Amino acid sequence: RPSLNLQVRGLSPSATVSINERSNELMAAGREVFKLGLGQSPFPVPDSVVEALRAHAARKEYMPVRGLPALREAVAAYHQRSVGGEREYSGEHVLVGPGSKELMFITQLAFYGDLVLPAPAWVSYSPQARIIGRQVVWLPTRAEDGWKLRPADIDGLCRRDRGRPRVLILNYPANPTGQTYDADELAALAEVLRAHEVLVVSDEIYGELHHDGDHTSIARFYPEGTIISSGLSKWCGAGGWRLGTFLFPRELEWLQRAMVAVASETYTSTSAPIQCAAVTAFAFGRDIAAYVSHEQAILKALGAWCHRRLLAGGIACAAPRGGFYLFPEFHGCADRLRERGIAGGEALCERLLEETGVAILPGSDFGRPYGDLSARLAYVDFDGAAALAAHTGPPIDE
Ligand code: PLP
Repeated sequence: RPSLNLQVRGLSPSATVSINERSNELMAAGREVFKLGLGQSPFPVPDSVVEALRAHAARKEYMPVRGLPALREAVAAYHQRSVGGEREYSGEHVLVGPGSKELMFITQLAFYGDLVLPAPAWVSYSPQARIIGRQVVWLPTRAEDGWKLRPADIDGLCRRDRGRPRVLILNYPANPTGQTYDADELAALAEVLRAHEVLVVSDEIYGELHHDGDHTSIARFYPEGTIISSGLSKWCGAGGWRLGTFLFPRELEWLQRAMVAVASETYTSTSAPIQCAAVTAFAFGRDIAAYVSHEQAILKALGAWCHRRLLAGGIACAAPRGGFYLFPEFHGCADRLRERGIAGGEALCERLLEETGVAILPGSDFGRPYGDLSARLAYVDFDGAAALAAHTGPPIDE
């Protein structure tokens, strides 16, 4: 009789989804819970994007597998701004999918080679690799480097084991650390990646949500080897709409073609009304630009406040630079924790939730070693609509 495929045996639901479910259970039982576990945008979808969705609600046809042509053009133009330089992107090189998570998964299905992940990294990359039976090579990063990969880390790996094909997923601003790369750091990484022909999936889903300065894509320095991942989930507040985008360089058309084939045999296309609405989002008119800059200001203030509170409590943590996450380390409190029978981050998070209602996730869910006294905190448990209104005064589409 049929039994479980080896690849999925022992696989449990994503840590972020599980903590959300546990938080909801406690809340249903009447407990106060501070939901700092799931990284969901608290902000409402911009009015003009909701309007566009309403206007297209009756669209019911299957979309082209690669995505609605107008959306693909808008996505290419949107990234052209952050990549800059001489490289010209076109809608031909965009793939739209039901969330960037799904696009990540079909990338993993499509390429041959090792997956290289900096640790810590977002929760789903490695389980996706496991489902497919792909090997993950972890490259640990360090708090003192701002949890960022150094060119020497990549160079060392590629020299140790020459000639293996590799794909690196680089995510910045980063989930779980809240850190991001500066342009010079990306340029230095790009040099090594090009030398070793490592393909990069650049997960820029938080690209708009940097706290200071501009977001730069590694594609500016390594266009021929970089796929840029984005979507509506974070900066546009529409995670549940499930729309993600990949932008390929023409050199990686072979990979795009294979992914389109997989998409055509699995999900076919993303929902038609959502794609139509996404054209408005990616066209990035003045109202969207104003909305995003208010999001940035609110997240920056909130991140800085949470960071100060952690430091005041004697908890080490790098100052946040983007996204909506902090990655505190509790080594300084290890003795006090041990006295209370708490030896690692997992027990700490469990006890925090049960005793104080604070939901955060242990660092080991993100590729830190089991027992590591680190955790991820998502500072998004607030009313985003009220925060926007307080920050801007209505209307936001000035
Ligand atoms: N990449 C990172 C780093 C994320 O944090 C998330 C969502 O939590 C995703 C990708 C998935 O986003 P989507 O909603 O587009 O599937």
